[in-house]
Amino acid sequence: MRDYLIAEISSSAVRHNLQLFRRHISEGTKLCAVVKADCYGHGMAVLWEVIAGEADWLAVAGPGEAIQLRDLGYKGEILMFFSPCIYPPGPGGHEAVAELIARAVTLTLVSAAEAELVGQAAAKGGMKARIHVKIDTGMGRSGVPHTESPSLIRQIRRTEGLQLTGLYTHLATADEADKSDALRQIDNFRQAAKACGGVRGEGLMLHAANSAGMIDLSESHFDMVRTGISVYGYQPSDQMHTHLPLRPALRLTGRLMQTKDLPAGSRVGYGLTYTFDRPGRVGLVSVGYADGYVRCLGNKTSVRVGGRDAPVRGRVSMDQIIVDLTDVPDGRVGDEVEIISPDPASRHSVENLARLAGTIPHEITCGLGGRIRRVLAE
Ligand SMILES: *Cc1c(COP(=O)(O)O)cnc(C)c1O
Repeated sequence: MRDYLIAEISSSAVRHNLQLFRRHISEGTKLCAVVKADCYGHGMAVLWEVIAGEADWLAVAGPGEAIQLRDLGYKGEILMFFSPCIYPPGPGGHEAVAELIARAVTLTLVSAAEAELVGQAAAKGGMKARIHVKIDTGMGRSGVPHTESPSLIRQIRRTEGLQLTGLYTHLATADEADKSDALRQIDNFRQAAKACGGVRGEGLMLHAANSAGMIDLSESHFDMVRTGISVYGYQPSDQMHTHLPLRPALRLTGRLMQTKDLPAGSRVGYGLTYTFDRPGRVGLVSVGYADGYVRCLGNKTSVRVGGRDAPVRGRVSMDQIIVDLTDVPDGRVGDEVEIISPDPASRHSVENLARLAGTIPHEITCGLGGRIRRVLAE
């Protein structure tokens, strides 16, 4: 037992969420679970099989994640979001692309130059690379600009070794209450798809929705939804019009490493930013910003010890935090401490920690560090 930080990942919560999405989308719409960034920090190695049991596709960011999924034994459909231009040109890049094609990873293309690279790599190995073209319909991030997509698509269709199977886009504001920008993007996407003959039922899959689109904007569903953060049980934002009863998958626990009594007037932690105005009792908990417990949570939240709240006092250190045990008299060294709760209403839920830290749930879970052992729980 070397591990003192344990992330219990609830398989039933993840299954519940995916089944909820299945009922929320229409029957002909496929469900793609996004497992990039180590399943948003929850642990791909422990969780992929649970997710693969419910989803039709899995999506990753880069090539390492795609290969990891295949090495773990996943045999279903994989979509890789990054386009292969992240490889340097030359034989090394060729080989890496050829491996992805050989292992049946559907690749994203955004430019003519990389269409040529991927086409050559495929043709050389006597293979067909399955391609989804990513279209920028207004977010200004990755993708071919929607006005230029018809010519790229014509080129891909002419290129030996490439088989165009899908078109997609990504929405910038689906998590906001006002959907007008998202609807404009969807309109641009429809027109771009029409311009290249890629409408429903003609062999090309169209997809646009992230978690927020899946939950809150049925116009974005098309042939597949790409759900990330909500698979793990978190609301994409607090501006959703539709409420889906998601179940957070993660519970993070650590240990009480030391307890001690402090006289009134004691100040604690780096910068001595908290002062006890009465005699107090503190405990040290084995988690810090190196584990993703972000530093700005200092003095802002609490953990749970023996069923009671113990407020965090002073700044978060790299490996530990100081908590107030004045009202937890029976807290003992070695006791389990709940650092992140799976109850969304809890003060130390992922969503509330994100709020307190001025960020989104994605950043909190993706930041969970390598010292935390992920274990699959019921
Ligand atoms: C990460 C990502 C998603 C998932 O987004 P969530 O907000 O986590 O649901 C979907 N599509 C693309 C292209 C992405 O990069």
